[in-house]
Amino acid sequence: MAGEPQDDCLFCKIVGGHIPATIVRETETTVAFRDINPQAPTHVLVIPRVHYKNAAELAAAEPGIAADILREAQVVADEDKLESYRIVFNTGSGAGQTVWHAHAHVLGGRGMEWPPG
Ligand code: C5P
Repeated sequence: MAGEPQDDCLFCKIVGGHIPATIVRETETTVAFRDINPQAPTHVLVIPRVHYKNAAELAAAEPGIAADILREAQVVADEDKLESYRIVFNTGSGAGQTVWHAHAHVLGGRGMEWPPG
């Protein structure tokens, strides 16, 4: 069923505590943890507890939780004392998505270029 945990999903396993992660924040609807392969001094993933394959599907089904992710990104940035930061939702393999559970990358602590690679 939509939103239910998937046995083969890495991030569902992190939500369930079945594989380790460096968790920085948890709410009723979200979990935030440090990326295992950081691309910036702050690189935190904010994910919903429910399983949707990308941010768009999450927003369509659970707009309140999609908003929670954006709010949590700001809290992560505040806690890491970031004056500016970038939120990235890779959507589709061509854009670099490798984990098929919606997640926001929160990146900061270094200069950022535009356009991104
Ligand atoms: O946007 P994308 O799907 O590529 O992002 C997945 C992210 O999950 C990667 O940045 C990867 O380093 C991270 N990851 C993680 N912990 C794992 C597996 C992947 O932080 N156990």
